[in-house]
Amino acid sequence: MSSDIMLEKGEMFYEGKAKQLFATADPDLIIAYFKDDATAFNAKKRGSIEGKGAVNNRVSELFFTLLEKAGIRTHFVRRLSEREMLCRRLEIIPVEVVVRNIVAGGMAKRLGRVEGEILRRPVVEWYYKSDALDDPLINDDHAEVFGWATAEELAVLRDLAHKINRVLRDFLDPRSIVLVDAKFEFGRHKGEILLGDEICPDTCRFWDKATGEKLDKDRFRRDLGKVEEAYHEILERVSR
Ligand code: UDP
Repeated sequence: MSSDIMLEKGEMFYEGKAKQLFATADPDLIIAYFKDDATAFNAKKRGSIEGKGAVNNRVSELFFTLLEKAGIRTHFVRRLSEREMLCRRLEIIPVEVVVRNIVAGGMAKRLGRVEGEILRRPVVEWYYKSDALDDPLINDDHAEVFGWATAEELAVLRDLAHKINRVLRDFLDPRSIVLVDAKFEFGRHKGEILLGDEICPDTCRFWDKATGEKLDKDRFRRDLGKVEEAYHEILERVSR
């Protein structure tokens, strides 16, 4: 079978808020299609950000390539088209890993801190991946007792989250972007833990270093305007 036939889009086996996932003839590979749809507050707010899918595909490609160079294994194989990415198939670990450098969003609200407070050191948090439950904050015991991840896996995830955070910060700083926080998803693949999902303005908070201007999905969540412009600004800066 030629590799082109192997890469034809098969059955769509998952549709999320921002992506559709398709099988390929190779059981180890899937195709992610990046949509323009945007949701916030557990899909209570819905909309569309023109060109977002194409931007997130490119930005994710750039970050995955950067991380692979730094020795972090990811599901990324290659970008296939404007909105399609070829990825390794993962058994997703249902724990969203958030790393924070500066207080914002959920952390500010939950703990009564001011948005913008610089954390003494990065903080890693676990959230249980469940739309029905609104992705609740969990601790290590919850993840282990309910079988979402083992203690050994959590240790690997924590370590990877800190490492990825350092690589991204070092890359973004000279581009005048502050990485406020980020959400990562990981999965199991042939006995290894790989970074999955996407890394883009939907899943990270990016602030302009000079002005503090928000250059991420908060512009959509909080109706700040210039949403498309922010996504394109991030693509432009990370492409430098
Ligand atoms: N995040 C995400 N998906 C989610 C929830 C959060 O990608 O379902 C990202 C969000 O963009 C931010 C970080 O995770 O970069 C921390 O988000 P937070 O917990 O503050 O929640 P939010 O304010 O986004 O509801």
